[in-house]
Amino acid sequence: MFEIKDDTWQRAEMVEKQLRRRGIRDPAVLAAMLAVPRHEFVPGEFRARAYDDVPLPIGGGQTISQPYIVAAMTLALRPQTSDRALEIGTGCGYQAAVLSLLAKEVFTIERQPELASTASERLPNLGYHNVHVHCGDGTLGLPEFAPFDTILVAAAAPAAPEPLLAQLAELGRMIIPVGDADSQELRLIEKHAGAFSTKTLEGCRFVPLVGHHSWQKPPER
Ligand code: SAH
Repeated sequence: MFEIKDDTWQRAEMVEKQLRRRGIRDPAVLAAMLAVPRHEFVPGEFRARAYDDVPLPIGGGQTISQPYIVAAMTLALRPQTSDRALEIGTGCGYQAAVLSLLAKEVFTIERQPELASTASERLPNLGYHNVHVHCGDGTLGLPEFAPFDTILVAAAAPAAPEPLLAQLAELGRMIIPVGDADSQELRLIEKHAGAFSTKTLEGCRFVPLVGHHSWQKPPER
């Protein structure tokens, strides 16, 4: 006999109802969303709701995005197995784990030391060994590890931070929620022959990106 754990069913249902039926069809992205145990990334009191169609609190006043947004941002980046990926806003590490199954290496930066330290223990414990967690101001990027093929900004900014644009590789893709504190739109920025093109995707609502090249302190909501 073999055992199929409950969370496997819950994830399969999440992938079918929240992702595939809403138009996310890329097999690699769906496989990554099916593989990562989202319940291991959320605080104990929210585990039962880990696969619900909602963002959830992760401590420090921050949230993990709803599964659909994680998948949509990942898909927009068109990840390649040879990519060096950068994420700004590690939070609980869930998005970084999803990216790590699709890219070669993931660098992720979190400004809150407690979240960074929890994620840097959790990720290798769960077997994600190609993720490097850094603590600091992600609006500065990681110049010593640049350039990056993809950059995912998991917090809302008034505009794409200059240092991140500068650290994008040729043919690189960046996804970032741009707007004010209350509402933003996802922007996909691509670099071709040294020039940037921008596409606007869907509306969204993220916690603010706080840093030198964004809001210097959290804006009033
Ligand atoms: N991707 C995360 C969710 C991130 S929520 C996940 O899967 O859980 C946004 C995160 O961005 C928060 O943890 C917040 O502390 C962090 N953040 C905000 N401004 C930042 C900055 N300048 N540099 C790094 N992290 C930042």
